[in-house]
Amino acid sequence: PADREELGRSTWTFLHTMAAYYPEQPSAQQRRDMGELVRLFSRFYPCEDCAKDMRERLETRPPDTSSRCRLSQWMCGLHNDVNRRLGKPQFDCSRVDERWKDGWSD
Ligand code: FAD
Repeated sequence: PADREELGRSTWTFLHTMAAYYPEQPSAQQRRDMGELVRLFSRFYPCEDCAKDMRERLETRPPDTSSRCRLSQWMCGLHNDVNRRLGKPQFDCSRVDERWKDGWSD
């Protein structure tokens, strides 16, 4: 349905932007908080199938909260897994900062 797509786009904007501005050297507390936020998110995301799928992925691939760079790459990988499942093209994860932090150069 259309609202699943709209919700998805808005949510990815939020998730990737949040990762893009996460600290490069997070404190132990910030690392715990971000791990918790991602897990809690997967329990409340208002698309039942999407949330269930995300919870399963988190089991095998827990969020890498060790730095801004690692978290951004982890989020990109998560999104690419979903892209693959939906038959969408893979995003080049070397370009996450361009897309979500610095802006495209062209
Ligand atoms: P989106 O996939 O929403 O992407 C938005 C923009 O992000 C793209 O235009 C691109 O510039 C950028 N982008 C794309 N891939 C990446 C990447 N890997 N890293 C960084 N940036 C990227 N929909 C379903 O139908 N079934 C599901 O099970 C499902 N699960 C979801 C789980 C989660 C956690 C979320 C947030 C969304 C889920 N969705 C699901 C929605 C789906 O992922 C899309 O958001 C929706 O289909 C709209 O797709 P889109 O093509 O507009 O671009």
